[in-house]
This record gives sequence, structure tokens and C-alpha cells, in this order.
Amino acid sequence: MSNEHDDYDYLFKIVLIGDSGVGKSNILSRFTRNEFSVESKSTIGVEFATRSIEIEKKVVKAQIWDTAGQERYRAITSAYYRGAVGALLVYDVTKKGTAITKEIKLISYSLETFADVEKWLAELRDHADSKIVIMLTGNKCDLQHLRSVTTQDAEIYAAKEDLLFLETSALNSVNIDAAFQKVLSVIHEVKR
Ligand code: GDP
Ligand code: MG
Repeated sequence: MSNEHDDYDYLFKIVLIGDSGVGKSNILSRFTRNEFSVESKSTIGVEFATRSIEIEKKVVKAQIWDTAGQERYRAITSAYYRGAVGALLVYDVTKKGTAITKEIKLISYSLETFADVEKWLAELRDHADSKIVIMLTGNKCDLQHLRSVTTQDAEIYAAKEDLLFLETSALNSVNIDAAFQKVLSVIHEVKR
């Protein structure tokens, strides 16, 4: 990328969060480099990647932060969230949440499904700006035969928590651009 052509009207920091293995790094590489990797490798040395898109005749540069595997130990620092105006809260549509007790399971099916998402949402609400725009992102929607979280359950949950929602596939490039575009548009609407 050349610096001479690096002109933009707005710079927005977006963070990727969610459990290890849900596809965060591949969502980032698909959006910024149009690349996908079948291997899971933790991000080493790279803190963020950028891509500029046009929104209402303005150049909006997204600076997207990825974890380097700290999510495995729930050791994401507050610096990660600092200044973030948007977030993709990513889960894997083939995996139900696990961190929930048997008692709660009996009360609500959708609570079980979103146990891990719930945990990340709490973390976001603790550490990030209260006005952060959040896209609940159900990744790996290409794996239809392995799906265990229905679109409808996710929609209900997103509506309840006031989140944007899309299902994506980093593998097949489904809704990856759309997810970032939507988050950036909503941020731009508020900030302009
Ligand atoms: P991260 O730990 O959240 O950063 O997840 P990664 O991006 O490293 O992906 C974990 C694994 O899931 C890798 O083996 C990826 O190839 C795979 N993966 C990521 N996105 C998709 C997707 O949309 N569809 C499928 N089928 N696999 C995916
Ligand atoms: Mg990763």
C-alpha cells in the first residue's frame, strides 16, 4: 500500500472479538487482502490491518484490530478496545456456547446457544465505549450440514441486545464486505 494515496476523510477503529477458532483472523484477511487460510494460525506481529471504502462520497478508512490469540486466555487488554467505534462479535454457527450451567440450560435454550457471545458482550460493555456499534457475526455459514445455531435464534438474540446481525462465510466470501460496510455506515452516520 502506498502512503501517497492514503488519503481518507475518516479513520474508524474496529475490533474483532469472539472465541478462538470462530474465524476472526480469516474474516480480517478476507476483507483486507481477499485471502483465506485453512490453517488456524495465531496472528503474530500484526496488530491490525486496514482497508478504505467509500461511503456517501467520503473515504472511510477502517483500522481493524485482530487478537493474537489472547482470547484463549481471556487476556485481552483494555488497549485493544481503546478508541474502538465498532466491533464484530464473532461466533461459529456450528458451535453452541458451552460456558453455562445445567440449571440455566433448562430455563432458556437461546441462553445456552449464546453463552460465549454473552461473555464477549459483557466484556465489550465493560471495556469499550458505550456507543460502540456492534455487529453480531455468525461465521462459517457455508457449513450448513453442521449448523447448530439457527438464524432465527441469533436474530432474536441480536434484537434483544440491540446488535446488528449478519451470517458470514470467510471461506466463501459471504457477507464479509457487507458486515464491515454496515458497521462503518452506521458509525459514519453518527459521526459525520
Ligand atoms: P480465529 O481464532 O477466530 O482467528 O479463527 P481463524 O480465522 O484462525 O479460523 C479458525 C479455523 O476456522 C481455520 O481453520 C479457518 O480455516 C476456519 N474458518 C474460518 N472462517 C471460516 C468459514 O467461513 N468457513 C469455514 N468452513 N471455515 C472457516
Ligand atoms: Mg485469530
